[in-house]
This record gives sequence, structure tokens and C-alpha cells, in this order.
Amino acid sequence: MTRLLTHPDIDWRDDGTPVARGHDDVYFTAGDGLAESRAVFLAGCGLPDAWAGRDTFTVAETGFGTGLNFLALWQLWEMHRPAPAAWLHFVSFEAYPLAIEDAAQALGNWPELEELAGLLVARWPAPVKGVRRMVWPDAGISLTLHLGDIRETLPASRFRADAWFLDGFSPAKNEDMWAAGLYPELASHSAPGARLGTFTVAGAVRRGLAEAGFEVTRQPGHGRKRERLEATLTTPTPPLPDPYALTPATPAARRVAIIGAGIAGAGAARALVDAGAEVTVFDRAPAPATGASGNRLALLMPRLDAADTVQARLLVDAYLAARATYDSLPGVTLTDVRQVPKDPADAARFAKVLADPPLPLEDLEALRDGGLLHKNAMILRPAELVPALLAGADLRLGTDAHLDLAARTVNGEPFDAIILATAMATAAILPWLGLEARLGQVEWVGAAGVTPPDVIASGSYAIADGPDRLWGATFEPFDGEMPEPSDRARQDNADALARLSPWWIRDTRDHAPVSRASLRATTPDRLPLVGAVPDEPAARAVFDGVKKGRPADADAPVWPGIFMVNGLGARGFTWGPWAGGILAALVLGGPAPAEASALQAVSPMRLVLRALKRSGG
Ligand code: SAM
Repeated sequence: MTRLLTHPDIDWRDDGTPVARGHDDVYFTAGDGLAESRAVFLAGCGLPDAWAGRDTFTVAETGFGTGLNFLALWQLWEMHRPAPAAWLHFVSFEAYPLAIEDAAQALGNWPELEELAGLLVARWPAPVKGVRRMVWPDAGISLTLHLGDIRETLPASRFRADAWFLDGFSPAKNEDMWAAGLYPELASHSAPGARLGTFTVAGAVRRGLAEAGFEVTRQPGHGRKRERLEATLTTPTPPLPDPYALTPATPAARRVAIIGAGIAGAGAARALVDAGAEVTVFDRAPAPATGASGNRLALLMPRLDAADTVQARLLVDAYLAARATYDSLPGVTLTDVRQVPKDPADAARFAKVLADPPLPLEDLEALRDGGLLHKNAMILRPAELVPALLAGADLRLGTDAHLDLAARTVNGEPFDAIILATAMATAAILPWLGLEARLGQVEWVGAAGVTPPDVIASGSYAIADGPDRLWGATFEPFDGEMPEPSDRARQDNADALARLSPWWIRDTRDHAPVSRASLRATTPDRLPLVGAVPDEPAARAVFDGVKKGRPADADAPVWPGIFMVNGLGARGFTWGPWAGGILAALVLGGPAPAEASALQAVSPMRLVLRALKRSGG
């Protein structure tokens, strides 16, 4: 299997019905798809009555296809939203995502869905494996799309559905989607009493559901179909222990304090505000983005790994999440980035990346010199972008925040949840994290000749946008108090620039560059810290057996309502929005917008468990 997914080949019947050639089956019934969707799935799951009185409701679907079921549900939600602030979460799974033109054409069959279809198609995802999250704040709707084979992606996903639409072609034509392994996964991803609807009454489906704990009934079918199924989860699966603290907080928070107005805090604020939370952001500095996020220009480009590992995937997920978040905001310029291999290992990695690319051709091309051309990357102006990310939050800048984590207050004011986005300042509160500071220095010239946007990267980077040139950056261990620019770092940056491009040197030689140094918080494994803050001494006690090789099979002890985002290193603008999405799901409840392996890889608890494993023998 390649890292990119393939679009399905579609044949169009005369009446406009799309047929997947590979599976020889229709996406929806000819002429009647919308009515059938309403009868089999919406009414089959007891909607809208089933969500009456609920603050949030989660529907999951096997087989996203054209998105018709999703839009039918959205339309019903518009008419019957249980409260103005209520949220509908939709989770769906798709291994062969439609090309955008095919999706638009298929949805064009339903004039009454035209407006909603436009909103969905505008965000239609590229065929890249992983988890995509889309949010429509005004509608109170989130869509979490797991792109990949459902046999892998459903077990790797984290959410609890209140209703299920089973829509994976007919079982006779697509066994993959109805294999015996599916049913226990449906049950373990369901809330008690979850409802389920499907068009098939195949015996294997009925038995699979019944064995997994669903009570199944046959109902009169829609249109020309004789029967369909409804089911209710009557014997829920007990939840598994949660050693990485990945389960959302209960009750869901509403009032959230974020400490730190850099990109980590701003990414969290954007996701939380969009998800309907009341957010207050505190920072000692008088303006947002005064620390490591505050360079004149910043760069968003993908970091592509040769192998399809958890880490490689989460870097791609984070990159796509950041790009989607910044897309409509000020302070963003689309750019090409020429990435030149900095050494033979880099060259070998690039060759492997190009042999099995993790991003589609619109975004990635081979350069003749063995480099990569990243298209649709972004030059960012943090002074404009970060305030835009913070829009909708109550900003308390220029004052010290006094935290009482046990009482969950900031300056005496109570909150349901507090998110620490305080980079190196967190080291004093949570020394066991082992955060390390790196000093990053960049050089900036603000009045060179005006050029179109351009970037060269090769370990170091050089960015040109309008009259601005910015290059760097150093990344050195630092154990002082205040970061200061140094002549030595300036010389290192000048040498790196000379290797990257003679014309940048020419452009900047008549100007004295302005140096800026700031601290980047880094973790021992170079992955960020995103999630609940463990009660470290309690966790060491609970998981003591891990030292002797026993499994970590208890819930992680955490500080209730206290979360963190940290360790973004030199990639704050890549990680910020993705981390924010994960935090919003943890703090407010709702489906996780990442795979469980990714959530574990960034969970602060990983550091506790790893330390225990190592201290064993
Ligand atoms: N619910 C869709 C709609 O509203 O348009 C129609 C779904 S269509 C009947 C079934 C979908 O399942 C197809 O989009 C197909 O690509 C997808 N599918 C088939 N096998 C799959 C697998 N193994 N994993 C994930 N998705 C799969």
C-alpha cells in the first residue's frame, strides 16, 4: 500500500448516480439517495429525537463516499439543533476518497443541499492517509475524517458514537468493510445505548452486531428494498484502562484559561473558540507572540520522513491541519520552498520520499538537483497571524498570571480547565518533563529590494517576501536566563546563508541585519507535549510495575482540568493548530482529531512511562 490513497474511478449512470468501478456498486440509490439516507440512517437511528436535550451528539459512519449522509444529517441538525450552543460531531472513515470534481458532481444531484455541499466541497480533503478535522463553528458541527482502510483506522481512532450509519457498499461486494473484526470495534467505539442503522439485512451483519452487544431488529425497507436493520447497543463494552490520559474530561469544560499567547497558546485558543468554549488567554508580555513565535517571518513547510511511521504521519497531519487553519487568515503568503539536501543522508531520504510520496503532486515535486520542491507552503507574519488566531478569546496581556492548579484558578478567578502553554517557564512547575531550552537566532533585513515570495531551505533557511529577508536559524543548547543575540550566531547564520544562495547575500549586503534570539522548548524525544498534565508522583506509584516489565493497565492519575501544550521546538507553527485540536477534544469532549498512536506519542504521560521502563532492568 502506498502512502497516498487512490481516488476511485467513477462511472456515471444516465440519471446522475455515481458507481464505484472498483467495487461495482453505487454510492447511493438512483434518484432516491437523499430520501433513502433519511429513512435508513437518520430515522433508523431515531434522529432527531435521539439528540433532544443533548449538549453534544456524536454520529459515526463507515464509508464517507460523497458525503451525502453527512449533509443530510447537517440539514436535519440545522432544523432541529437541540440548543443554540449544542454540537454535532460526525466521524467517518474512507479508504478511497473521491476526487473533488466527482464529489461536487455527485452532490450536485441535490439542489436542496447546494449550500451545504458548497461548504463541504470547499474543504474537501486531499487523498492523504491520516486524520482530517473540519469545523463549522456557526453550525456547531465538526467532521473528523479518518482516511485509510477502516480495518486499520477504526481500531486506531478514539471517540464514542451515539449513533452509527453503516454504509460500506453491499457486504457481498465489499467484504473488507463488513469483516468479523468490525463489530466489536463498533461496540467499543459506542456510548451505552448507541443506535445504529443500515440498509443491509445480511445474516453475517446481524450476527456480528448481536455478538458485539447490539440488539438488532429488521424494519420495513425504504423504496423498493424489502427490509433494513436497526440496532441498539444494549451490552456496552467496558472502557479499557487509559494509561496515557486520552479520555476527555467529564464534565466537559466551558470556561478555559490558556496561559501563554505564543503559537502554542494561540493554536489552542483558535480550536477552543471555534469549538464553542469561553476562552481567556493570559500572558505576562504586553502583546501576543513575543517569544519564540515572534520573529518577523516564519515558515510553514512539511517535514517528510522516508518511512510511514507514527511520527511521519503525525507530522503530515499537523502540517495539513496548520495549513487549513491559516488558509483564510491574515499574515499568510503561499510560497514554493526549494529544499536542498544538506548531506547524503538527506539526499537518500528525499529519494525515498519521492518514491512513495506522503503528499500529493500539487504539493510536492522532485527538483533536478535532487531536492524537493514544496508547493503551497506558507510564509507567515506572526505579528498579524497570531492575533488572528487569538480572535474571539478574552486577552489579558501584560499581567502576571498567578496559578493555583489544585483550585483551578488564575489570579483568583475560577476556570473549568487551564492549559499551560508557557514553553520554558513550565520547566519550573514540572521539572520532571526534562524540557530543554534551545537558543534560536535569526537575522532580518526589512528594506531589501522587493521580491515575490521565495524560500530556500537546507537545515537552515532563507525567506524572502516583499522587502523582507529573514534567514537562520541557530538551534543551540542554552542554560542562561535571558536569550541574547550573539555575533557568533550571526556569523553562523551568514555562513549558512552563503551556502544557500549568493543572491540573498547580494540583496542584503548593504544592510545591517537585525538579529533576534529566542528560546525554543524541546523535549527529550523531540515530539511535543500535548494533553492532560500527569500527577507525576502518583503516576510513578500507580505504574511501578512497569519497571518490572508489567503492562501499564490503569488510568493515568492527572491533575483534574489541567492540560499542557509544550515542546514545539523549532516547529511551533506546524504543531500549534494540530495540538490545539487535540486539546479542544480533550477539554470539551468529542472525537480525537488524531490516531491513538499519535495521541500517545505526544501525551505527557509517555515521559513518565518511559522513565519507569528505563529505570527497570
Ligand atoms: N455514505 C456515503 C455517502 O453518503 O455518499 C456512501 C458510502 S459508499 C456506499 C461506501 C464507501 O465505503 C465508499 O466511499 C468506499 O470507498 C468506502 N470503502 C470501501 N471499502 C473501504 C475500506 N476498506 N475502508 C474504508 N472505506 C472503504
